[in-house]
Amino acid sequence: MSAPVSESSTAPLAILQQVFGYPAFRGAQEAIVEHVQSGGDALVLMPTGGGKSLCYQIPAIARHRGGCGVAIVVSPLIALMHDQVGALEEAGVHAAFLNSTLGFEAVQRIEREMMSGRLVLLYAAPERLTTPRMLAQLDSLSERGLLSLFAIDEAHCVSQWGHDFREDYLGLNVLHERYPAVPRIALTATADTHTRADIIERLALHDARLFISSFDRPNIRYRVVEKDEPRKQLLRFIGDEHEGEAGIVYCQTRKKVDETAAWLAEERITALPYHAGLDAGVRQQHQNRFLRDEAVVMVATIAFGMGIDKPDVRFVAHLDLPKNIEGYYQETGRAGRDGEPADAWMAYGLADVVNQRRMIDESPAGDEFKRLQRGKLDALLALAEAHDCRRVRLLGYFGEASGPCGNCDNCLTPPEVWDATDAARKLLSCIYRFAHASHGPRHFGAGHLIDVLRGKTTDKVAQYGHERLSTYGVGADLAEMQWRGVLRQLVALGQVVSEGEYNTLALTDSARAVLKGEVQMLLRVPSAAPKRGRVAKSASRAAKPASSAPADLDSAAQARYESLRAWRSEVAREHNLPSYIVFSNAALAEMARRAPGSLAELGEVSGVGEKKLEAYGQEILRVLQAG
Ligand code: ADP
Ligand code: ZN
Repeated sequence: MSAPVSESSTAPLAILQQVFGYPAFRGAQEAIVEHVQSGGDALVLMPTGGGKSLCYQIPAIARHRGGCGVAIVVSPLIALMHDQVGALEEAGVHAAFLNSTLGFEAVQRIEREMMSGRLVLLYAAPERLTTPRMLAQLDSLSERGLLSLFAIDEAHCVSQWGHDFREDYLGLNVLHERYPAVPRIALTATADTHTRADIIERLALHDARLFISSFDRPNIRYRVVEKDEPRKQLLRFIGDEHEGEAGIVYCQTRKKVDETAAWLAEERITALPYHAGLDAGVRQQHQNRFLRDEAVVMVATIAFGMGIDKPDVRFVAHLDLPKNIEGYYQETGRAGRDGEPADAWMAYGLADVVNQRRMIDESPAGDEFKRLQRGKLDALLALAEAHDCRRVRLLGYFGEASGPCGNCDNCLTPPEVWDATDAARKLLSCIYRFAHASHGPRHFGAGHLIDVLRGKTTDKVAQYGHERLSTYGVGADLAEMQWRGVLRQLVALGQVVSEGEYNTLALTDSARAVLKGEVQMLLRVPSAAPKRGRVAKSASRAAKPASSAPADLDSAAQARYESLRAWRSEVAREHNLPSYIVFSNAALAEMARRAPGSLAELGEVSGVGEKKLEAYGQEILRVLQAG
């Protein structure tokens, strides 16, 4: 909506409309922009996709127009600066980045632009910012009043407790000490109070105004399935619900990433691996394909994803349990940034619980750190085991109260629960009997335990005379899956630990209360395969063919949409940018729907700013007429 405003307007709404082509601010954006524009410090907590970038870009533009020079944006990932700067230049905002990928001449050219005050935004990695050379340049800018603001993106990287800690972020407090008059805005999508306190402390943001948005991502549907045959479950999920769409599959180890990507490729899904063990060139290439193509599935460790702002990621799948809820929420938050329906899907099983517990136990960290990690894992396990609304639990973890969401697996298909109190007692006492048997090993793994409970006759049972145990066969009425569920729950709750090379089981002190029947345990009834299929179907949008237009377009509009997309791909290739930076799918859909006949009408479409209208307007009108 490009209302005719003067180039030099510094009103936030005018800039939003003129430069970015959006009709209105979202949520707290306007308040944040006004606060920073008028020189205040801010700490912004907003979920992924909430629209953090505009919170510093608009004040930067406004202050630049007011003669305040250049805004410095600290961003941890040099690999993504190119696209961010590309998007600004497309919108007609003079921006640049400084990083190690640039040659000497390019660096000099950009430094000249910066020192002259012509540049509106400069992106740089933290380690770059704190070099003597850069600080000298900032000194000079600051003396001339040409340092408009500092934006510190992904500010949680400063927290040593968090999962993305970057040493170089610690040096950023120098900005405040050296340039106390320059406003600073720190932004993050990590919301827990611990990290927040760390950011405030380490970046000296005590006087900053705090802006906390709701962390809800209502378009993301959360689902946790019991791990049975994880690969098949994943394939069914992608095949049934996300064929021809972009997604991310997270695995814990590099090896598993490689294997899963190769296997998906065999199943004719365009899948690429990404992890820190791959050559930097390969990593960059895979990332570029993911950003630029429409239907790539990235199979990755958590090394992948920070700063990825691809808006049309339709699903995030976890084949392994993430470390904690913060990590889970960040990772799943990469789905559906465009506000369209998206899925967060996780397969979860006993081995996940055992692995994560063990990783903490065996880590060289101090006791305090371990205690904190255990607490975080417990919260995540409670989420995975929950039979009530997942979103209520997620938001509750971040201190936000809400009601049942109607858009998670448990809301959509409330699970049946059964009283497992008695079964849990039987299981625990069976472990106890093993440990107190007169001969043979004292500890056994899950398989043998369940065999004994179900009264099976196996070689091992015969070898150790376990058919004589009082717990032999006491659980014949329950299926193996149910027993696994009971055991998983007990491990999740910490009443049973799994130890050593053979994952043998032992009781902890806290098992006593359960043994005595003092703790009631309600478990979800494991869903048999056909039922799971139904859940998956009902919880999905209707499967749709690859690259289809939005369903609400009539056939003529669909044809226009497809021509616009083809045109956009051309432009994106020419400019070496992802297509969504040229125009979002939503903007193309609106053009196809409205079929504007003039530049003025085209300018009404959300996402069409003045610069883009000028650069592409005529071509788009032509494509629309021809299409
Ligand atoms: P974040 O950094 O918080 O994850 P972004 O800044 O990348 O989110 O914004 C997410 C998406 O929302 C982008 O495509 C952005 O252009 C869009 N967006 C942000 N603010 C608005 C707005 N006020 N109106 C329309 N779209 C917006
Ligand atoms: Zn729900």
